[in-house]
Amino acid sequence: MIYLDHHATTPCDARVAAAMMSWLTDDFGNPHSDSHEAGRFAAAAVGTAIESIARGIHAPGESVVITSGATESNLLAIRGVVTHPRQKRRKIVTVATEHPAVLDVTEELRNDGFAVTVVGVDPHGRVDLDALEASIDDQTAIVSVMWANNEVGTIAPMTEIARLTHDRGALLHSDATQAVGRIPVDVRQTDVDLISGSAHKFYGPKGVGFLSVGNGNRRVRIKPIMTGGGQQRGRRGGTMNPAGIVAMAKALELCRCEAGQSSEIARHRDLLWQRLSSAIDGMVLNGPSLDSPHRLPGNLNVSLPGVEGEAWMAATPDVAFSSGSACSSVDPTPSHVLLAMGLSESEARRSVRFGIGRTTTEDEILQAADRLITASRRLSR
Ligand SMILES: *Cc1c(COP(=O)(O)O)cnc(C)c1O
Repeated sequence: MIYLDHHATTPCDARVAAAMMSWLTDDFGNPHSDSHEAGRFAAAAVGTAIESIARGIHAPGESVVITSGATESNLLAIRGVVTHPRQKRRKIVTVATEHPAVLDVTEELRNDGFAVTVVGVDPHGRVDLDALEASIDDQTAIVSVMWANNEVGTIAPMTEIARLTHDRGALLHSDATQAVGRIPVDVRQTDVDLISGSAHKFYGPKGVGFLSVGNGNRRVRIKPIMTGGGQQRGRRGGTMNPAGIVAMAKALELCRCEAGQSSEIARHRDLLWQRLSSAIDGMVLNGPSLDSPHRLPGNLNVSLPGVEGEAWMAATPDVAFSSGSACSSVDPTPSHVLLAMGLSESEARRSVRFGIGRTTTEDEILQAADRLITASRRLSR
């Protein structure tokens, strides 16, 4: 099987798995037990790992809250900010192409009585900055805009969005799950207030993520979702997971060391597009152009003429890719991201997403292209 679905998840790097091991076996202390050496040893490792994760996104060390993944981080960021007892503002602004982990939370908050504005995007998936600016006012508590899109790879202008947000005294959250480890994410330089990330999207294990809360420039208060125990300075209760946290730090360090690989990843992505588009007449690229700096290097999203994405996937079982987003693929409705970009329902149903990763080889790309082309010819006959 050739794995071309790195937006859904990435393989855990063997060096990351190796770094986890001793925390699952010999060094099993509870990092919150400070009365003995076993606990203090685990606490020290967790502290060092958190500092490293913070450095990886240029955030203050004490800002990092460890979570179970980006779904929880997004919930904690948005619900946490708007329901804090000192929060007087009742409005939330977000974007139509956000991950369901953001859109579902904001819809729930709408039912709870908050005002929610969902801003549209252009045909490349870029947020409409004029509409965004017009939506933010002195009643807006939080603006949530994803750093990079998980379906079409569009990268948002975070510095500009932070300026628009802070001009009205609101806070900016970014679901940076697809950006962390793939492109530079600098919390201080962009002035984003809250950032969500997830280890399994950057070659770490599943079930561990982080939320950075505050970048030192302004006060960010969040009400915890998971109460009880008072761990993580009351921001998230429950015993921390040293193996997962050490692994997440190691995974992010490796991404920084291997950042030079992103041009190779883009080259593989471009090769896949060249092969497919030259063999399949009428194939359309969705999202920003492939040479745009505003597109993730490993992302390719295409619409096929006359063949549904689901059918193409079923006909190519030995290549892993996806139609729509993996998170909602149980749901047969076409991608909300592509619909927001102005594609018709039929075009959206004929779309698939490829995610090329740092382990993908040129040989895999060539083989995958052959299998995909054969399957599409068979289907359109
Ligand atoms: C994968 C993903 C999530 C969910 O992350 P989990 O850690 O799996 O909960 C959220 N947002 C984006 C953009 C994602 O790609």
